[in-house]
Amino acid sequence: MLTYITFPEGRFKALTMSYDDGRTQDRRLVELFNKYGIRGTFHLNSGWMDPELVEMRKEAVSLYEGHEIATHSLTHPTLTRLSDTAVAYEILEDRRNLEKLTGRIIRGHSYPNGAYNENIKRILNSLGIVYARVVSPTLDLELPEDYLEWHPTCHHSDPALMDLAKKLVEFDRAQYLKLLYVWGHSYEFDRDDNWNIIENFCEYVSGHEDIWYATNIEIADYMSAARSIIYSADGSLVYNPCAIDVWIRKVSGEGPEMSDVVRVPAGQTVRIK
Ligand SMILES: [Zn+2]
Repeated sequence: MLTYITFPEGRFKALTMSYDDGRTQDRRLVELFNKYGIRGTFHLNSGWMDPELVEMRKEAVSLYEGHEIATHSLTHPTLTRLSDTAVAYEILEDRRNLEKLTGRIIRGHSYPNGAYNENIKRILNSLGIVYARVVSPTLDLELPEDYLEWHPTCHHSDPALMDLAKKLVEFDRAQYLKLLYVWGHSYEFDRDDNWNIIENFCEYVSGHEDIWYATNIEIADYMSAARSIIYSADGSLVYNPCAIDVWIRKVSGEGPEMSDVVRVPAGQTVRIK
């Protein structure tokens, strides 16, 4: 019995958003995401003491409810130019501050100024960071090979944005997993006077039952759980040793029919018929 991993509920397409720096324009952006049921991750610098940002952090728990809060380093230096000790401090101190602020466990990151290397990836991994977003776009809808070097599909101002959105919405081949990952800074919408770009995008890409609207960490965690499931040699028994449910799809099913989708509940073994 052959099966594919799917996203939750048998979906095979996902959308996630990623916004950096935690500026006041996040309020308008979060409101827009919430209106359309779109979800994402906000990468904050807890050590930036600009009064505006200190104010923003006070409302972080309520503002970002339903979204992920992640690290962006304590003070936004270019990590590749720091000592290992300083890198560790910038990440761990940011984690500690954000965890204290939110009461959540913070495990995501985006690299300030997009700078990273293999050494920094290793340091992040040792500090409990499970994914880190970089800047250069893939312009495709593939999942990352390496979650500590997670390339977004594109920036919101990329001319290809709506074409990529259309590709995701119209994609109907359930034997693949597709992800559209858009990133940016909310202050860019004021600076460039182009809120219409993100408003049009959200309206177009929202409300599709076959798209999973997720935060960055939900995708990283789900794929980690999905990779951890254990199969019998003939594939008829599937054991999920993780704490979250995983969904798989029978390869024999030709189309996106839900009858081919099997939920493997957390901690349970399921027989595939
Ligand atoms: Zn930044």
